[in-house]
Amino acid sequence: MKNRGYKVTIQKFDPYINVDPGTMNPYEHGEVFVTDDGAETDLDLGHYERFINENLTTNSSVTMGKIYQSVIEKERRGDYLGKTVQVIPHITNEIKEKIYGFENTDTDIVITEIGGTVGDIEGLSIIEAIRQVGLEKNPEDVIYIHVTLLPYIFGSNEIKSKPTQHSVKELQSFGIKPNILVCRTETDIPDAIREKLSLFCNVRKTSVIQNKTADNLYAVPLMLEEEGLAREVCNHLKLENYIPDNSKWEAMVEKIRKIDPKKIVNIGIVGKYVRLEDAYISVMESLYHAGFANNVKVKVHLLNSEAITRDNVAEKLKGIDGVVVPGGFGNRGIEGKIETIKYVRENKIPFLGICLGMQMAVVEFARNVLGLKDANSAELDKNTKNPVIHIMEEQKAIKKKGGTMRLGAYPCIIKKGTLAHKLYGTEEISERHRHRYEYNNDYREKFEKAGLKISGTSPDGLLVEMIELEKHPYFIAGQFHPELKSRPNKPSPLFVGLIQACLKN
Ligand code: GLN
Repeated sequence: MKNRGYKVTIQKFDPYINVDPGTMNPYEHGEVFVTDDGAETDLDLGHYERFINENLTTNSSVTMGKIYQSVIEKERRGDYLGKTVQVIPHITNEIKEKIYGFENTDTDIVITEIGGTVGDIEGLSIIEAIRQVGLEKNPEDVIYIHVTLLPYIFGSNEIKSKPTQHSVKELQSFGIKPNILVCRTETDIPDAIREKLSLFCNVRKTSVIQNKTADNLYAVPLMLEEEGLAREVCNHLKLENYIPDNSKWEAMVEKIRKIDPKKIVNIGIVGKYVRLEDAYISVMESLYHAGFANNVKVKVHLLNSEAITRDNVAEKLKGIDGVVVPGGFGNRGIEGKIETIKYVRENKIPFLGICLGMQMAVVEFARNVLGLKDANSAELDKNTKNPVIHIMEEQKAIKKKGGTMRLGAYPCIIKKGTLAHKLYGTEEISERHRHRYEYNNDYREKFEKAGLKISGTSPDGLLVEMIELEKHPYFIAGQFHPELKSRPNKPSPLFVGLIQACLKN
């Protein structure tokens, strides 16, 4: 739709009661994605940004917790003038406001994704709210797209349409008639099944859209275009079906497909949530983007930092060309990360540290190069005599009122002549943050003298944002999360540099 000239935005509704996913364990919910304006959001927003190349805001991420919080605050203030506060209309009105909030902006189309499954008790008020949206707005201004799974039964070699028939029936009992079905499938949907879905689900046959597992994630929009999804949307919304300019995206997917599958760079992500890829999804995608830019396939290995020790680190990193130590919180697995960083520093293996990864690079250097044996981050050892990472007074003032974390996009000034400068090609960048602790300025001189250089700071010079090591093929780290702004057609320079360095090594 964007390539047809429409201004599109996306929002996600999540039915759970957490106000945002910020407090959730990554194993519960995958990574926390952070927007420019500092909202801690569902990881789907990361996919949205990567696919539509738009920076989303806090309005794009709504949980039931947020809705209830706002309704209860209004109730306490007396805004409801003595009325009984109920799910319908008060909760549903609050939900609709989040959708209608885009009305007086330059947005032409709002895509609202509802998380969960049709019929979930938690999600019922959202379903009811979007039913009301359909009632309140003109029919040509609202469409319902139902995303559904078509299971494939190997034994009998057939696709089953029954689950879709059931969920559509369920939706209809809530007063919603889907206009379009987007069917997730592993194999091509036979015509007979399309016909059946159309007939039994009361959807035009042309609006039964196949969404088959693609060879490459970024090929999906082109596949859906070919299936006629946007054409059907235009049709239902009575919008002009302009000829889209997908040429740039097509060229990108073509380029990805041409990468020689035998040209592989192996990258280790050393973290503690290795059982779930979603926990590091943006880091992984950024690595793939950097692979596209360097015309190589990046193979990601999730390495459990809790299992890495000084004795086994060499073996654990065997075959690994480069290492990322990503963000994280808390003590578990920390020593494994520090051992990994020591190893890649000494053995000249390309390294990118992100947030906690940068903090641990600082701790490692303090311990093993400066000889401050008990150096640590104040987060991990409150009593250390050498808190090389800590919370500083100046930073407390910068923090948003009430918040305890530095969240969202902040500018960073890059020193000329550094590796960071070479990579970004500019002296001012903006990257997204999500952390409490900072580099301790009392140690600046000692670090710099010993070769761990500061290459980026906040504009006032107070906060160290980037560090890098001299005399190393690639050893760089940022206090921010560069993975949050990497897009397939606009990869993050720090990741591109990492893959480049691995290829050279
Ligand atoms: N735990 C660290 C802090 O709060 C790092 C956070 C992160 O890596 N996102 O500063």
